Amino acid sequence: MSSQPFISFAGVCKSYDGVHNVVEGLDLDVARGEFVSLLGPSGSGKTTTLMMLAGFESPTRGEIRLAGNRLDDKPPHRRDIGMVFQNYALFPHMTIAENVAFPLSVRKMSRSEQKVRVQRALDMVELSHLGARRPAQLSGGQQQRVALARALVFEPSVVLMDEPLGALDKRLRESMQYEIMRLHRELSLTIVYVTHDQNEALTMSDRVAVFSDGRIQQAAAPTELYENAANAFVANFVGENNGLLGHVVSTQGEWAALQLADNSTVYGRAGAGLATGDTAMLALRPERAHIAATPASVQEAAQQDMNVVHALVQELVYCGDHHRVHLKLSHGETVVVKVPNTQHRDLPALGRQTAVTWRRDDCKVLPATAAALNAITPQDSAGFSTSSSSSSDSPLIAGVN
Ligand code: ADP
Ligand code: MG
Repeated sequence: MSSQPFISFAGVCKSYDGVHNVVEGLDLDVARGEFVSLLGPSGSGKTTTLMMLAGFESPTRGEIRLAGNRLDDKPPHRRDIGMVFQNYALFPHMTIAENVAFPLSVRKMSRSEQKVRVQRALDMVELSHLGARRPAQLSGGQQQRVALARALVFEPSVVLMDEPLGALDKRLRESMQYEIMRLHRELSLTIVYVTHDQNEALTMSDRVAVFSDGRIQQAAAPTELYENAANAFVANFVGENNGLLGHVVSTQGEWAALQLADNSTVYGRAGAGLATGDTAMLALRPERAHIAATPASVQEAAQQDMNVVHALVQELVYCGDHHRVHLKLSHGETVVVKVPNTQHRDLPALGRQTAVTWRRDDCKVLPATAAALNAITPQDSAGFSTSSSSSSDSPLIAGVN
């Protein structure tokens, strides 16, 4: 990858009504060959950002560059960018081969060259045997592969995809994810991919830019986002999270101490910009929390400098590969602990008083502005769970709702 970014957004704002910016101060660089996802709830500005890159919308302020050149004055068909949308957008009256050839005929390529390229593009998505059919004779997954072939046929340097798998069922969506990842690798494509599905973004991307309310909250590699969320919004939106609210009582180097509403004090890695007295959220993944059911195990955890909170077992949910234990802290906040179903484990009995423990470096204390906490509404989380792999994967926003 060269040092110059291949795609760059600098200070980009977009307003449709001249009053309210739906994209605000967007700075984002994408390297050549990188797969970057724009992830965020509905209405957060992902499609608008993609449309500005594609040339279907123009920025109200700021600049967008491709390979160092400003894109502003270039019409969409001269941008060397392929696009795939959720609804395939195939021409129903044309055959599959004619659909794939369309971008080539627009570019006035010779018939013989078109034929070679269409064949190659259909081979790539393993549909060369269906070239003579019409879109209505294909399944949804096959139609989406045609749309993919059509976006790739003119060998664009960048491919933009806007929720391309949103209309497909789970199995098909997963196999298409691998197909797109394979094409990205084999063709060294630069891909900017829009999705509201965090699993999809984490699985496919080199880097994910998390959007909320027109702003990028964090742009980082999937592991970094999951392990090192920059703020409460990212922690809640990416993966499942126990968010416990409290006040920062002290910070020391990379650590912060947080007093929870039940007056217990817990410690975690400190997020940037925390000061004593701030309202903050402790972000704890359910798989990093443990149940200490006996006084001896509580004592052992305390000796190892682990965090300990006391809680009541409220619900036990069997999920096949794991159990989910819902616990209530004395002041009412809920914690969910994921217990892997790998061996016979003694799960605590319903209604029992027990303790939840976790390592200090397995949680993070994050700035929690009201805006960040309100940015996830129950609707977003509902929509989000139906599109992810199972209903039990919906994000936890304990202490927020
Ligand atoms: P996302 O793709 O993240 O769901 P969008 O970029 O589509 O978000 O929308 C961001 C905001 O801009 C939303 O509030 C949406 O209603 C508004 N919006 C999108 N397109 C238009 C448009 N053509 N005219 C006016 N408002 C729009
Ligand atoms: Mg959209």
